[in-house]
Amino acid sequence: MTIKAFAALSPSSPLVPFDIERRSLGSKDVRLEVLHCGVCHSDLHAVRGEWPGQRYPMVPGHEIVGRVTHVGDQVARHQVGDLVGVGCMVDSDRTCPSCRAGLEQYCDDGFVNTYGGHPSGRGENTYGGYSAAVVVDEHFVLKVAHPERDLAAVAPLLCAGVTTWSPLRHWKIGPGSKVGIVGIGGLGHMGVKLAAALGAHVVAFTTSESKRQDAFFLGAHEVVISSKPDEMAVHSRSLDLILDTVAASHDLDVYVAMLKVDGVLVLNGVPENPHPSPAIYPLLTGRRSISGSAIGNITETQELLDFCARENIIADIEPISMHEIDTAFERMLHGDVKYRFVIDMTTL
Ligand code: NAP
Ligand code: ZN
Repeated sequence: MTIKAFAALSPSSPLVPFDIERRSLGSKDVRLEVLHCGVCHSDLHAVRGEWPGQRYPMVPGHEIVGRVTHVGDQVARHQVGDLVGVGCMVDSDRTCPSCRAGLEQYCDDGFVNTYGGHPSGRGENTYGGYSAAVVVDEHFVLKVAHPERDLAAVAPLLCAGVTTWSPLRHWKIGPGSKVGIVGIGGLGHMGVKLAAALGAHVVAFTTSESKRQDAFFLGAHEVVISSKPDEMAVHSRSLDLILDTVAASHDLDVYVAMLKVDGVLVLNGVPENPHPSPAIYPLLTGRRSISGSAIGNITETQELLDFCARENIIADIEPISMHEIDTAFERMLHGDVKYRFVIDMTTL
């Protein structure tokens, strides 16, 4: 079936209207009408070819929410009319030790991206949520329990939300924990909300003076302008966990120095150019670690959506029309988004 979408035809072209084919419904497939799609900084990195191995035409979008319009004859989890979401993964091999452990995002064969297909380049290209509809195996379709009026602001939970939720849960953050969130963008603003909702003491680190007040409203208990050494020094050797969501290369040592003994700096951001190699001394003078974390698994994503529905948590969004996407990318590049653009797909 041919449907409307928006695609980048090359790393240097703007996004343009583009017709794509969706596969016909398999027995385990769910077809949904895309109602809203969040704009992740990963879409921008990918569209512009900042990461290796990108495929074009590229239809980005992995913060998808919509309504189920069709289900295959063996679909058990979803019904026509349900509000659902799809995040960054649409398949994985489901047989490797990671998949059997419920860690689809760490599939030993690489999970199939919602857009851009298999990371090895084999198989068909996949097209994401900047489109009228998607067809996805039910295992990778999440239930949305929020009221329908909040649906646009639920979309960012599918990537920005779960990418910060997963490390917060993995490192067992709760009351008594002190957590730093670096970079108050799409991921970072969700990280602040979620860490605060889990009961942690939250310190937001931002380069933007204009976000200081906002960060308190998002739930931060303390806010640090990272260019001010006196503000940074206050938190030396005090944090259990830091989530670094910055989309650009920067010095990690200043954040390692803020970790307690056994503290962990988790790299969530994936900048085009690598961070400078960290110094060894700050790591060994506290048995501190630097880790990375990719999105979250399907069980965690559902757990996050249910937690947010219960706690009335949604993203802070700026709705845009499909035709505003290139302006949105430019604004995102300059940190000018509070805190997630979400495309109203009826404008497609
Ligand atoms: P975003 O909304 O653009 O936020 C990034 C934030 O980083 C900015 O708002 C800014 O916060 C800070 N920043 C500081 N210096 C910057 C600079 N020179 N350039 C850009 N940002 C700068 O991006 P996002 O959607 O949250 O994504 C953040 C990163 O995470 C991206 O690299 C993205 O690809 C990656 N990501 C990773 C995963 C994963 O699975 N690990 C999932 C999704 C996205 P302040 O103004 O507060 O300083
Ligand atoms: Zn994303």
